[in-house]
Amino acid sequence: MSTLWSPLVHDLVPYTPGEQPKGQRFVKLNTNENPYGPSPRVLNAIRAATNDDLRLYPDPTSSELAQAIADTHGLTADHVFLGNSSDEVLAHAVNGLFRGKGAILFPDITYSFYVTYCMLYEIAFRQVLLRSDFTIDPLDYVGPNGGIILANPNAPTGIALGLPAIEDILRRNPDVVVLVDEAYVDFGAESAASLIPRYDNLLVAQTFSKSRSLAGLHAGFAMGQPHLIAALRRIKDSFNSYPLDRLAQAGALAAWQDRDWFNLTRAKVMADRDRLAEGLRHAGFTVLPSATNFLLMSRPTRDAEDLLAGLRERGILVRHFRQPRIRDWLRISVGTAEECDQVLRELIDLADL
Ligand SMILES: *Cc1c(COP(=O)(O)O)cnc(C)c1O
Repeated sequence: MSTLWSPLVHDLVPYTPGEQPKGQRFVKLNTNENPYGPSPRVLNAIRAATNDDLRLYPDPTSSELAQAIADTHGLTADHVFLGNSSDEVLAHAVNGLFRGKGAILFPDITYSFYVTYCMLYEIAFRQVLLRSDFTIDPLDYVGPNGGIILANPNAPTGIALGLPAIEDILRRNPDVVVLVDEAYVDFGAESAASLIPRYDNLLVAQTFSKSRSLAGLHAGFAMGQPHLIAALRRIKDSFNSYPLDRLAQAGALAAWQDRDWFNLTRAKVMADRDRLAEGLRHAGFTVLPSATNFLLMSRPTRDAEDLLAGLRERGILVRHFRQPRIRDWLRISVGTAEECDQVLRELIDLADL
């Protein structure tokens, strides 16, 4: 702390990212990274873009990439906003669409960055309790509010909400924006992007970090009707006009175009997730149904922090959240088949100690 800080900075509670260990080699199942590398076409595209053109500023709206994303969803490029990660896109959306409109709503157990953005932009918020089985009740999202954020599938629960429920929430809240964060949608849920032509209050955010194996390149995007995208552009151009550099635009475009790689790698992740969930349940663990690349699981008789420490000693990192309702749970990212087998073996061993 410093007396030179602004009062806002003084009061911030920044987001705590999962550990990125240096040196020692861990089986890293703590930050939901994809165990498979990006498409080889991505690396080729980045190599090809590594030339003297780097002296020039990049395309400020990543228009070729926006067009490719729009084409996939049957939209036009003015429905797509690119950002330097979906976190940045979410921050711009919170700032540009929610600020100054009253308390916004999101579940009590969800991506903790939403609280952080509310603090950063001084927005009131209300955390809506998930049901005891960690599902969302759409009827809880009614009444006056300044906007709604839903991660779908939710994180860290992994549970997906069906499109009819999303549509119900959109219909009941026509005067505010409903932001659907689809960071994990490609691992088994249905995207709300198909609802965009019918709902002028829907903004959908996605990322290249998880299903397209590009956390290290860090590109994300939002889709919505052009009037919402225009708000995000106004914020971007008041902050950083060039969020994606030339290499990121080239790499993300190649990743988007290589559907085969995308489908192959996500199918492997989903198959190994289901196998790991089955193995854990068979061994007496409680595992929430997941439509993501991670599992939230618990061993009612064992302290989650003990299991976390035990796994760490055995070279495996997973994630624990010190939040009351989920402090008995651990979140395990789905790794390769071998990594899944390893974490299952070690957990079974630790559970009986
Ligand atoms: C990982 C994640 C993101 C952020 O993805 P980036 O594009 O890497 O910033 C957003 N929302 C949720 C729920 C996530 O888990």
